[in-house]
Amino acid sequence: NTAVVLYTSDLRLHDHPPLRAALSSGDQVVPLFVRDRVIEDSAFAAPNRLAFLADCLADLDAALRDRGGRLLLRSGDVVAEVCALVQEADADEVHMAAGVSGYAHAREERLREALEAQGRRLYVHDTVVTAVAPGAVLPSGSGADHFAVFTPYLRRWTELPLRPAEPAPRAVRVPEDLGSEPLPRRSAVTGTSPGLARGGETEARRLLTNWLRSGITRYEDTHDDLAGDATSKLSPHLHFGTLSPTEAVHRARAAGGPGAEAFVRQLCWRDFHHQVLAARPETAAEDYRARQDRWRTGPDAEEEIQAWKDGRTGYPVVDAAMRQLRHEGWMHNRGRLLAASFLAKTLYVDWRTGARHFMDLLVDGDVANNQLNWQWVAGTGTDTRPNRVLNPVRQGLRYDPEGRYVHRWVPELAGLPAPRVHEPWRLPGLERARFDYPDPVVDLADGLGRFREGRPGAVS
Ligand code: FAD
Repeated sequence: NTAVVLYTSDLRLHDHPPLRAALSSGDQVVPLFVRDRVIEDSAFAAPNRLAFLADCLADLDAALRDRGGRLLLRSGDVVAEVCALVQEADADEVHMAAGVSGYAHAREERLREALEAQGRRLYVHDTVVTAVAPGAVLPSGSGADHFAVFTPYLRRWTELPLRPAEPAPRAVRVPEDLGSEPLPRRSAVTGTSPGLARGGETEARRLLTNWLRSGITRYEDTHDDLAGDATSKLSPHLHFGTLSPTEAVHRARAAGGPGAEAFVRQLCWRDFHHQVLAARPETAAEDYRARQDRWRTGPDAEEEIQAWKDGRTGYPVVDAAMRQLRHEGWMHNRGRLLAASFLAKTLYVDWRTGARHFMDLLVDGDVANNQLNWQWVAGTGTDTRPNRVLNPVRQGLRYDPEGRYVHRWVPELAGLPAPRVHEPWRLPGLERARFDYPDPVVDLADGLGRFREGRPGAVS
């Protein structure tokens, strides 16, 4: 008996239900990754994620080889490639993780039909990509197919017992006569961010262990400190599945304490957005709650969007965040919140423009987390206070009180101490002229005016 394991966003050996099921159903397994042409030819194929993916595939292959197996790589149409390999290997079944996007659902359906036509079966496993499967908890009594509000979701999510996390298998036997394309190399990907993190399950497990040993205890107090580097930086690993969210929750709970509780809460946010997208796949592009916004467009808006992308809006903390994104392919959560609020509510530009730019650069760029967090910030999503506007000066003073984050990413202002570094336009003329740094693209009061005018009824 031979079973194929189709890897997608779950590039690991530890705690991997599809691999475990395949191993228990047969004596040989075929671990397969397909470079899906549809994805690789789309805007989702951003260099930072392609480079990180190359690390993940190399690490997975090495881990499989340590256990007597290897990873097979094919490219093309994912359904055609799986069907061809199933015939070559004379496999009876295919195992894969359940996805949440509209694309993932359609892929599952196409694959199921094609395999059934060949007399083979597809098994789709949940709790691989999320800790709690979408739909596993639902608002009681209302008949709704997902939670639209986070706090009640968190309550139910927390009560639900998780399955135990499984260790990695000791041995994986892969048929020898199956051909594979060479794995992609990280060094062959051009246009990546200079400070891009390393991918792969080995790195994910190292980061998690270090995080549980040292970082997590302070997390509750420091997770909003922009300069503190005090968050786990596990998001790309959760996105590519080099880390199991179930295992992360179990190990954090075992570590215990308020830091662990706050960290698990963030993992719940991740599941929350996944269950929204699973129930409403169209919200990847459409408003979750239509607000009839009259978003700004035209040459002035284009110029401001460019200043935002370049980190030259004249608001130091926004610019620092945008430059961190470009340099690392990652941004601190507080930076994402204030940079997104600035685009959607102060420049008053359609959230989709910002979400696309984030997707072009984020190594953890994820349809569920990116699109739905953007919607949350823009007030078209699940935020119960959709018209609140973050003030970048106050945000800077509060979350970067010593100005260290701004000094790190906006070196033009390195000589200017906090709190003045957050409002350089207030410096007296001569002193202001010493800094080669732009004036604000828009006055904050004018920005608020645009938002209130464009969104009927928005009094924040
Ligand atoms: P930690 O603070 O250590 O949190 C642990 C984990 O919890 C994260 O790795 C992540 O998986 C999850 N998490 C934390 N906050 C959130 C959240 N608000 N929503 C969902 N999951 C969360 N996260 C992504 O993974 N991919 C994205 O594309 C993405 N885009 C975002 C866009 C905007 C506008 C905003 C406001 C947030 C976005 N986030 C996204 C959520 C969050 O900013 C990142 O997950 C977090 O900054 C990653 O850093 P970390 O791993 O150190 O997080």
